[in-house]
Amino acid sequence: MRFSRGRNFLFRVPEGEELLKFINEFAKKNNVLIGTVSAIGTLKNPKIGYFDEKNQKYMVIELRGTYELVSLTGNISIRDGEPFAHVHVALGDSKGVLYGGHLIEGEVFVAEVFIGELLGEPLERKPQKSGLTLWDEVRI
Ligand code: ZN
Repeated sequence: MRFSRGRNFLFRVPEGEELLKFINEFAKKNNVLIGTVSAIGTLKNPKIGYFDEKNQKYMVIELRGTYELVSLTGNISIRDGEPFAHVHVALGDSKGVLYGGHLIEGEVFVAEVFIGELLGEPLERKPQKSGLTLWDEVRI
């Protein structure tokens, strides 16, 4: 899929907000239908997921306490007619040990977020047999 660059957003999320929810609401409010997301900061009590292919669902890893949001990377596309952020994170503990996975939720202590809008044809997530919602595969 080919896109051109649209608007760029760089902002700090208010403390106490749920990060994923805030990114989705920000995208909806600013009408960002397709884009890239990245962030750094600090999260409290984050929940991350590992997709269990056999059981077709996410195993939830609940982390307690405060973690460095070492890296957040993801994208925004359309699911059920609305912008939807798919986000993965690397989270560091007090020893610098990393946990990683699919972000389910996390309370913001600090979050500095970049969203780069992409303009072009709609890119939509569709339910798959695997239980995931994915884009059509590209044909080259
Ligand atoms: Zn994921």
